[in-house]
Amino acid sequence: MIYPITLYGDSVLRTKADEIVEGEIDVKQLAEDMFETMHSADGIGLAAPQIGISKRIFVIDGSMLEDEQMKSFKQVFINPVIDGESGEAWDFEEGCLSIPHVRGDVSRKSVIKITYFDELWNKKTEEYDNMRARVIQHEFDHIDGKLFVDYLSPLKRKLLKNKLSEIMKGKVDVAYKVKKT
Ligand code: ZN
Repeated sequence: MIYPITLYGDSVLRTKADEIVEGEIDVKQLAEDMFETMHSADGIGLAAPQIGISKRIFVIDGSMLEDEQMKSFKQVFINPVIDGESGEAWDFEEGCLSIPHVRGDVSRKSVIKITYFDELWNKKTEEYDNMRARVIQHEFDHIDGKLFVDYLSPLKRKLLKNKLSEIMKGKVDVAYKVKKT
């Protein structure tokens, strides 16, 4: 099932999402729906608040990318905890399905260690670096109510102000289904 994607300005994107209790919801079905929704929008990562569900789960699928590491990276993250971030911070221009046609440089550390459950409730602790770490950091922010635009410089945010308020009003031109508030 394809869900409409929530847009910048929707309070669910600013809410710290709740942990999922095992058995409370069908996480396999939810993850499947999230992948389907994400693929319909050509995204590489999607967090539950982006489909209006305030739960701590996100999915990533980098198979459409050229990047060697991302190509084989398809994973469901449930109740993730970032155990630590290390390495050098690097800039990359990010975007977000909930903030269409807005991009901006975000500085993030290059290595993360994360503990999470997969869709079969296997607990895993893994380390990721570079692009994989970045996508995880971006999606993890979503379940804490943070967005990449929060990291932009005050000047850049000022320049984006009109664009952001248009999105808040639901004035977006995208090829995927969105939820207007
Ligand atoms: Zn995003």
